[in-house]
Amino acid sequence: VREMYLDSERLNISSELSASISHELRNPLTVTSGFLQLLSKSPSINEEEKEYIDYSLQELNRAEKIISDFLSLAKPQAENMVYSNLKEEVEYVNNIMGPYANFHKVKLKYHFNNSLFLKYDKNQIQQSLVNLYKNGIESMKENGGTLTVIVKEQKKKIVIQIKDTGVGMTKEEITQVGKPYYSTKTEGTGLGMMVVYNTINKLGGKIKVESEKEKGTTFTITIPV
Ligand code: ADP
Ligand code: MG
Repeated sequence: VREMYLDSERLNISSELSASISHELRNPLTVTSGFLQLLSKSPSINEEEKEYIDYSLQELNRAEKIISDFLSLAKPQAENMVYSNLKEEVEYVNNIMGPYANFHKVKLKYHFNNSLFLKYDKNQIQQSLVNLYKNGIESMKENGGTLTVIVKEQKKKIVIQIKDTGVGMTKEEITQVGKPYYSTKTEGTGLGMMVVYNTINKLGGKIKVESEKEKGTTFTITIPV
């Protein structure tokens, strides 16, 4: 088993600014791809022009992915640290990720304590959980697998464990995770884990990565309460 502690400090971004920008960018992207789709159905365009439109739609789709990995759930508002129960966020993310897991033949297993009080930003924690769930699910290629999520309080620390039975990583690959734009996926953005590191770092937490090639990966996050 390869194991490694990573420095939580990867890149500092103004979360308020980036949340607002990514939110504001969504509308023009949606409008533009809508019009391009209409245009591509026009009888007066030729094959070459159709190709240009398809490339443009692909690129808009890519931009949409970047926004979604970056801060899809964040609303354009200032960072909002509140004392609340992490159980709510875990339940919420479990619900919204259910269909994605199903689609990838991944079984979701989770258990968490009922009381997990902590001071955190709800949007940022939700986004980080979504990004971790997504990576776990995506690591389990065609055959599917199991994603196990455990959240508990232990010795005055909240422990979030996300374990997949996916492709796993080498020691070298583990050192790259969380660096901006590092991605081994054809359609990856390399921004998802950067958001996770940034969020956990702000809470004074630690991220431990254990991974074995072709066996799977476990991310263990510990946050002091
Ligand atoms: P993206 O998912 O767009 O590639 P991320 O920042 O979310 O970007 O992840 C960066 C890279 O880290 C991934 O491309 C993958 O190589 C690796 N990675 C992250 N999570 C896992 C995981 N659960 N199993 C295997 N590899 C992972
Ligand atoms: Mg990702």
